[in-house]
Amino acid sequence: MDHSGKRTAIGVDLGGTSIKFALGTEDGKIIKEDKKPTDTAASKETILADLSTAIKQMTEYARSRGYQPVTVGLGSPGSVDVGSGFLMGATPNFLHWQNVEIKKVLEKETGLPVFVDNDANLMALAETRFGAGVGHHHIICLTIGTGIGGGIIIDNNLYRGYHCSGAELGHLSIELEGLPCNCGGRGCLEAYASATAMLRNFKNLQEGMKISFSAEEMDVEYIFQLYRKNDAVARRVIEEASYYLGRGVATLINIFNPSLLIIGGGVAEAGEIYLSKVRETAYRYAMAKPREGVQIVAAKLGNKAGCLGAISFAFESMKNVQ
Ligand SMILES: [Zn+2]
Repeated sequence: MDHSGKRTAIGVDLGGTSIKFALGTEDGKIIKEDKKPTDTAASKETILADLSTAIKQMTEYARSRGYQPVTVGLGSPGSVDVGSGFLMGATPNFLHWQNVEIKKVLEKETGLPVFVDNDANLMALAETRFGAGVGHHHIICLTIGTGIGGGIIIDNNLYRGYHCSGAELGHLSIELEGLPCNCGGRGCLEAYASATAMLRNFKNLQEGMKISFSAEEMDVEYIFQLYRKNDAVARRVIEEASYYLGRGVATLINIFNPSLLIIGGGVAEAGEIYLSKVRETAYRYAMAKPREGVQIVAAKLGNKAGCLGAISFAFESMKNVQ
């Protein structure tokens, strides 16, 4: 399809390992995408300069091919005031990425209107507009990775809370006096069902059973591979994590009564075994009425969700300011 001359947006996804950036259209077609490594130890000025370079690079590409980039959307970890595009407070995994005037600086640098939101919110938006959530207007989205990110769609729009700091669904407490969590609380879903939690449990159990393993092999996909070979430790780890996640999902169903619950991230991509266990627990523990008709499905957009959500958010925000 020829998009020449068509209005486009640049979407940027600032992650803990890479900055992904893409040129796309309002209907969710990605024309070009690229990425570069994130330096999580860098100063905020350096990270802002890296983001600005990425946007400029994509703008040049677009213009050289007759596309017209009209706006930029950016997803960042942490709590973002979407009105001012200001990153409030700190972000886990980044050393200095806190209290940053993201919108102000990038608009000055790039000359384009820039809109910033939390990365998990934008992934939820992408799945709603272009992915697993198409056709649904009440959606809860969970991204299972190093931590657990959340996004809430109510009446087809993102719900962010009083000052854009809500939807921290990974910090739903499921064991009141349980394991300490990075947030300062205890017993959070993230401490029991994230990829990090699964790897930690796997290592602990392996050590307890005096079985050696190579650290390089350790990622969640490795645990799923072992599971498929009927490994008892892998089975226990996956069953425990999916049980906890299922209990968390049951609570979310009771609170929000969504029509769809989307689970994304590397863990969900690893397989249907995991999802079916989450579903089984969630359906068993959720209340009868709120769970009626709720579907629990895997995310569809994979690692493109961040950029696609940013593109969609930028186009939608442009309409609101015009
Ligand atoms: Zn927590």
